[in-house]
Amino acid sequence: MDKKDLKFDSKLIHGGGYKNKLGAVNVPIYQSSTFEFETADEGARCFNGESEGYIYTRLGNPTIKVLERTVADLEKGFGAIATSSGMGAVSTVYMALLSKGDHIVSSDAVYGPSRGLMEDHFSRFGVESTYVDTSDIESIKKAIKKNTKILYIEKPSNPTISITDLKACSELAKQHGLLLVVDNTFSSPYLQRPIEFGADVVFHSVTKFINGHADVVGGIIIAKTEALYKKLRSMMIAMGCNMDPHQAYLVIRGLKTLSIRVERAQQNAEKIAHYLEKHPKIEWIKYPGLKSHPQHELAKKQMDGFGAMISFGVKGGLNAGKILMDNVQVAILAVSLGGVETLIEHPASMTHSKVSAEEKKKAGISDELVRYAVGIEHVDDLIADLEQALAKV
Ligand SMILES: *Cc1c(COP(=O)(O)O)cnc(C)c1O
Repeated sequence: MDKKDLKFDSKLIHGGGYKNKLGAVNVPIYQSSTFEFETADEGARCFNGESEGYIYTRLGNPTIKVLERTVADLEKGFGAIATSSGMGAVSTVYMALLSKGDHIVSSDAVYGPSRGLMEDHFSRFGVESTYVDTSDIESIKKAIKKNTKILYIEKPSNPTISITDLKACSELAKQHGLLLVVDNTFSSPYLQRPIEFGADVVFHSVTKFINGHADVVGGIIIAKTEALYKKLRSMMIAMGCNMDPHQAYLVIRGLKTLSIRVERAQQNAEKIAHYLEKHPKIEWIKYPGLKSHPQHELAKKQMDGFGAMISFGVKGGLNAGKILMDNVQVAILAVSLGGVETLIEHPASMTHSKVSAEEKKKAGISDELVRYAVGIEHVDDLIADLEQALAKV
């Protein structure tokens, strides 16, 4: 039986094609910085690419390789490159694919630090960027210039939970000769595989759903083609933002339960979204599974589920939201998402605090927006928790 034909859930467990010579069922942690060559000639072959032997962990490592193979397979890419963090993945992508004088069109509700890295640092090297509402294809079209090289999509966006039409973006990218790069952190490959829609490069903060246990910071980049894979891997090696073998081991362990974690978290999220939508103290709510979400139909079409991220505003604005955040007892007041535990945070003053007030307004990151990242606790406890905290508002 060809393991390539396994279903997604089975690939999570048996992916990576690792077979241990001693029969260990789990992938060992190869905690070694460097690897012995059989002979001097073999060492030379490893370096010139004729042999696939391991050399030095920054360049590649057997434990990390298992994670990379598994995720590349899940995302339907040619290959994957694990990185020290999600931002390690973002910086590798920017560095590998952009040069002086290039321009990138990006989502205006992109992860704050991804935008900060571009605006504060890549701008110093002559890279230009424009931020638009990527859920509106017309505004992407208007932003494309002669020197545009990348169309950068994050979906669902953070923290506004807007959905971008990947197929339309991929067609647009092809027309203009752009690379389509997708930050797929919020969906995880369980809900969406952007390469199937024509993306060239996909990446994740594995800190979130892929690892799922709030005990690792890490990233991974998946390239559609061999040429892109080689370009990205050599940049990751040059910048030295490799994952560590122990980190990779934990991520491999977390990844095994991705399907059942995301499944439970999104079931919880749907129930919580319906509860909040009817709550008299909730001003508005955004969740792709609700009919009121502006891209509900698109989400239904291009995703295998609606995910576990909800954003909402409490009546009474920021102060009311703060009372809620200070009074939840099951949900934890912390940034991040995609873990087994439910987290609540305030993007305007936390994850997106570096984004200017004007840009926040444009991107729809209002002052009252509360981001609720649903975990896998019993949903009755989460709803009871919100109920008691909202009663104090
Ligand atoms: C967390 C996150 C990142 C950055 O990843 P780190 O692992 O924290 O470096 C990038 N994009 C999105 C959408 C994220 O949520």
